[in-house]
Amino acid sequence: MQISAINVYQVDLPLYEGSYKWSGGRSVDVFDSTVVELITDDGIFGLGEVCPLGPAYLPAYAAGARAGIAELAPHLIGADPTELALINRLMDQSLRGHPYVKSAVDMACWDILGKACGQPLATLMGGRYGEDFALYRAISQDTPKRMAANVGGYRAQGYTKFQLKSGSDVETDIARIHLVAAQLKPGDVLVADANCGWTQHEALRVADGVRDVNVYIEQPCLSYEECLVVRRHTNRPFILDEVVDDLKTVVRGYNDQAMDVINLKISKVGGLTKARQIRDLCVSLGIAMTIEDTWGGDIITSAIAHLAHSTPTEYLFSATDFNSYVTVSTAIDAPQRLKGRMSAPSGPGLGIEPRRDVLGDPVFTHR
Ligand code: MG
Repeated sequence: MQISAINVYQVDLPLYEGSYKWSGGRSVDVFDSTVVELITDDGIFGLGEVCPLGPAYLPAYAAGARAGIAELAPHLIGADPTELALINRLMDQSLRGHPYVKSAVDMACWDILGKACGQPLATLMGGRYGEDFALYRAISQDTPKRMAANVGGYRAQGYTKFQLKSGSDVETDIARIHLVAAQLKPGDVLVADANCGWTQHEALRVADGVRDVNVYIEQPCLSYEECLVVRRHTNRPFILDEVVDDLKTVVRGYNDQAMDVINLKISKVGGLTKARQIRDLCVSLGIAMTIEDTWGGDIITSAIAHLAHSTPTEYLFSATDFNSYVTVSTAIDAPQRLKGRMSAPSGPGLGIEPRRDVLGDPVFTHR
């Protein structure tokens, strides 16, 4: 089987809540998502998606995804999309770095592999653990009172895991964490995600100010080294996200006992092939994971569902249903949240069909 054509689409994904805000005054109103369609000489096509969390979250931006895919496209024509390792090596040899660019292509190749062998990705990735898995809800940064007030609405949607966007000034963040924690019920999980927003001394003050609260601390500072100092001074369970962007960092973090949980985002590490490798290593090492991406719609949510559902339940800390945050649906049969939980589609590959009317015409095609 060979890749014979590549279509790239651009889709705007507005948010039901109007905007999403996190540390450093960063926010997104409309997500700019890129959808890749790989067409093969067998007539099978595969879908992938990449959607950066704006241009200032990771070294990634929406137009860069499309420019990078255009750069890769000539190398991909004629390659066998079912040979995932070879495809990834080809992409790494053709374009250094830029893992997020490769993520959508890798995802589309997985979709083709699943369709070619008639199996859903969850099966190819090891099989399903249980009927479904738990999701978390991100609580966009706002005043402590308004953030606490939002918990009830999200719980009514079935969520029991909440990720609080913090990483602003120390006093406000301590108040945020206390006020939201007061809303929790037995069994709920609360994470304070600073998204690199605290300096080391600020993070130590927040960690000290919440030492009696049942809360996880996620990615307090910009660098791995600063996070490690905070980790060594707090009694709270600890999650690393932005600094964990490859397998080597997971190994380093394991050796340093730098975290209890990692946040594994598919595009951050370069696609499902590399995410699965990291996932399997984390399971072997006993590191739990939040499995998600930087954002996205139905296609990314489906990919998340397959990777999450094929992760042993005790190591799946949580996952994200991004398609429930956005007002636009790009695919039929994408997984939907039910009582705060989700399951992977049962059809072959990603198990979804594109909504052609929503994707519109490709922004470019390469044959
Ligand atoms: Mg995070």
